Parts: sequence; C-alpha cells; structure tokens
Amino acid sequence: MKDNHYYDVLIIGSGAAGLTAALNLAPHCKVAILSKGPINEGSTMHAQGGIAAVVSDEDSIESHIEDTLISGDGLCNLDAVKFVVSNAQDAINWLVAQGVNFSTVDGKLFHLTREGGHSRRRVLHAADATGLEIGNSLIKQIQKQPAAIFTDYTAINLIKQHDRCTGIYAFNNQTGKTEVFQAKAVILATGGASKVYLYTSNPDCASGDGIAMAWRAGCKVANMEFNQFHPTCLYHPHAKSFLITEAVRGEGGKLLLPNGERFMPKFDQRAELAPRDIVARAIDFEMKRLGIDCVYLDISHKPAAFIIEHFPTVYKRCLEFGFDVTKGPIPVVPAAHYTCGGVVVDKRGRTSLPGLYAIGETSCTGLHGANRIASNSLLECIVYGKAASDDIKQTIATIEPPEPAQPWDESQVTDSDEEIVVTHNWGEVRRLMWDYVGIVRTNKRLERARHRIELLKSEVQEYYSNFRISKNLLELRNLVVIADIIIQSASARKENRGLHYNLDHLAEKRKS
Ligand SMILES: Cc1cc2nc3c(=O)[nH]c(=O)nc-3n(C[C@H](O)[C@H](O)[C@H](O)COP(=O)(O)OP(=O)(O)OC[C@H]3O[C@@H](n4cnc5c(N)ncnc54)[C@H](O)[C@@H]3O)c2cc1C
Repeated sequence: MKDNHYYDVLIIGSGAAGLTAALNLAPHCKVAILSKGPINEGSTMHAQGGIAAVVSDEDSIESHIEDTLISGDGLCNLDAVKFVVSNAQDAINWLVAQGVNFSTVDGKLFHLTREGGHSRRRVLHAADATGLEIGNSLIKQIQKQPAAIFTDYTAINLIKQHDRCTGIYAFNNQTGKTEVFQAKAVILATGGASKVYLYTSNPDCASGDGIAMAWRAGCKVANMEFNQFHPTCLYHPHAKSFLITEAVRGEGGKLLLPNGERFMPKFDQRAELAPRDIVARAIDFEMKRLGIDCVYLDISHKPAAFIIEHFPTVYKRCLEFGFDVTKGPIPVVPAAHYTCGGVVVDKRGRTSLPGLYAIGETSCTGLHGANRIASNSLLECIVYGKAASDDIKQTIATIEPPEPAQPWDESQVTDSDEEIVVTHNWGEVRRLMWDYVGIVRTNKRLERARHRIELLKSEVQEYYSNFRISKNLLELRNLVVIADIIIQSASARKENRGLHYNLDHLAEKRKS
C-alpha cells in the first residue's frame, strides 16, 4: 500500500526521551522517529535548571532517594525511585559521550547547583540552557544514524491488532493526508499535557497526545490530578512560555497585588521563598479573590547593574515586551509546567498494552508521585529511554511483523465550514481548566468543570466524525480527553496531597 510505512520500532516524539531510545536502537534495528513540528520542538529544549544526579563525594544515592520521596508525598514507587537515582551516574556518562557539555568548575569537576527540594548540590547544568544543550547534542548524534526522521507528522491513534499495538495513524501536516506507520514496537515519547491549561510554560506541542492515544486504546493512565505549576511566568499575550526564574525571588524580588501590597508573608513565613507549590497557590488565591488577571513581581529596589548582571535573559526578554525590570514591577501569573501523571509503565517502560512503550513526561513511572522534585524529569527521560530500548533490543527478534492495517477512511467526512468550533473550543477547554481545575480546587468548581467537559467532548467528537481532520482539531480532541481525565482524577481524590489541593478537603485525614 502506497502510504504504509514499515519499521522495527516507531518512536513518537523527538525530545530527550525519544532521542535517547532512538540512539540506543538505531544501530541495531530499523527505527523511525516522528515529531509533530520541527525535530527540536518540545519541552526538552526549554529546560533551564538542569539534571539531577549524585556525582559528588559529599552526596549519596540514599539522600537523592529520600529527597525524591519527600517531594512525592507518599505516592512514589520506591522501586522506580531507586532505579532512576541509581542509574543517574550512567545517564550523565552517556550524555557526556553524546557530546553534552555540562558547566564545570575550572574545566574539571561538574559545577553543581542546588534546587528546591534537594538537600544537597546535585544538579548538573549547562549554564541556564541545559535542555538546549542536551537536545542539540542528541539531535546531532541521531542525524549520524540510519534512523528515518519524519517531522511535521501528528500521530492520531494507535493501531491495535490481536490485542497488540502494531503502529499508528499519523496526519501529514504538510499534505493533509493520513498515513499508516507500522512496527513491531511503538514508543510514545510525546511529552506532557500542560497545554490543557490557559497559561503554561510549555511549548505548543504539549497537548498530551500520547496520553490521550494510550487512553483511547485502553491503557492504564494514573496521577493526572498532579499537575505542577510554576509560580511566575511573564503575563503578556505574546510571551506565552517565558518563565521568570525563581532566582529573581531568591535575590529579593517581592510579589505584589495591583495596589502595591505585598501578600506572600500572609501565606508562609518564608514569604516569596516558600516552595513553588505554596507560592503558586497563594498567587492563585489572590487572583481568584480579587478577580485579577495577574500579580506583579518587583526587584527594582536592587541596583540596575546588579539586576542586569544576574538576570540578563530576564532583563532582555522583558524589555522586548515593554517592561523594564530595573525600573518597576512586571506582571506575572503561575503557569502549568509539568505533568506528573501519565501512561502507567513498568521499569522497562512497558505499558499495559503489549507492543506499546511510554517514556519521558508522557509516562507515569512512579518516580514523581504526587509532586516532581526539580530536575528529576530530564533524568527520567534518559534512564527510561534506555530501559525501554534495551527491552526492545532483547525481544524484537521474537516478534512477528504486523499484518497490513486498513488505510485511513475519509469517505464519510467533508470539509468543515465551521472552523470557529475548533478555535472557540480550544480556548474554552483551556480557560475552564485554568479557572475550575487549576492550582486550587473546590468540589463545586470540579463539578462545574465536569458538566462543561461533557458538552465539549460530545461537540468535539461530532465535529471529528463529520469533518476532515486538521492538526488543530486533533490536538483539541486530545486536550478534551486530558481535561476529562484530570477532572475525574481530581474529583476522585478526597484529600490534599502533593500538587492536588482542594479547599473542601482541608480537614480530611490522610491515609499515609
Ligand atoms: C520551561 C521549562 C523548563 C524546564 N526545566 C527543567 C529542568 O531544568 N530540569 C528538568 O529535569 N526538567 C525540566 N523541565 C521538564 C523537562 O524539560 C521535560 O519534562 C522533558 O524535557 C520532557 O521530555 P520528553 O522527551 O518527554 O518530551 P518533549 O521534549 O516535550 O518532546 C515531545 C516530543 O513529542 C512530539 N509530539 C508530541 N505529540 C505528538 C504527536 N501527536 N505526533 C508526533 N509527535 C508528537 C513533539 O513534537 C516532541 O518532539 C522543564 C520544562 C519546561 C517547559
């Protein structure tokens, strides 16, 4: 069949997770990598802080495990935590072998920073652009391998034959045609789902496609109520993913209401230096209480030279949007940052559907539990990227090639004459998730969200069944599934734990 592609392994996603698996597999079997946009689009390229690993004599595996468990608030899988933490040193060695240049002290020892939740300095970084350094190095390496790379393809649905995943249907964003990709094993490495919220630090591709595809295919998905929010993203219509680093608060930046009043001391003794989730919650509380669109961050009491020297990127970027951080407060909002839940996998990245693997932010390995500790996510991408690909290498010879799948059937659909349904519903889902299922929840808001999402689900499904697909429509269809799962998970959790915070459960006793 003309539009059918056959490979041994199909990897959906070209971030840190997907490329790690691809590099491990490409010398051994026929691999194809698909990405929804250019190969370098994804959260990986935006990671600033770094990657956690025990590489110093003053640190220990036990301490990294303990910090991860504390942050995970009772929901981590101890086995998974031990697995990731004890493989961190190998992951770093592998990254260095791929050409990643981490910042060093005098060109010898790695320079280590300390981030929230870590009791030691253990975060390796490449200045303040670690993800870019990792992403670019892995892309350079994969381009030397005999792997097929398909950019601008949006995976739509998984193909299941005899209760096994044997491929995907993918929409070619350029031609508007849907093609069939088949393989003995399929890896979902499609990143997170933070785009389901109105404000997010994530790039546009983070619409939870892999999680939604796996869910539709009947895979287990867990912990979706735990979405991490970063407290301070610049509030401006064109600055959609620009984070204002926590270091601004670390150096004395104050959070203010529109009338100039400082509010953090009311919420926590540590004020602006309280942990991320507490600061994000306080901002959200004030925004909802006053019905305001943003709060303000002010570091202008520090000398201009100090600000420009310490925060050159923040200074430059804010100026581009007309805000001078050296002269006054800048508008900020919390933003959805990381999806702690996802497709449930074992230590080899295997999902509950044979033939299907999930790695990176798409997966739920048990490492993060109810709250991700900073800089453990890139590490998880590398460790599970290797684990899943090792499993495939060991088993692939025993797996029969799949039978040809049916081509995509477009005979029943027509061109849409109501594109407004898609654009309107995109906005509606993200706003309703932000307002009703965001940082601070209540039973009433969750109930309201549930009613609205039911309506949106049926509207989007009807549209999907009748009209020709587009990338926008496919993402909307997935966002609605993700929103539905988050609402269901948040409604089912009758306690406050980790990132899930419901005002109606403040008095509830926790089981453990
Ligand atoms: C601003 C920011 C800062 C961060 N800082 C850190 C940090 O300092 N340390 C840390 O550990 N973590 C950090 N994180 C989190 C970390 O970057 C991500 O969790 C991690 O990079 C995810 O990698 P991934 O490979 O799973 O997915 P991504 O890198 O997001 O890649 C997803 C890939 O999937 C593709 N894709 C998606 N849907 C489809 C589809 N339907 N069809 C085809 N392809 C598809 C995309 O095109 C892309 O190639 C940060 C995240 C952000 C946004």
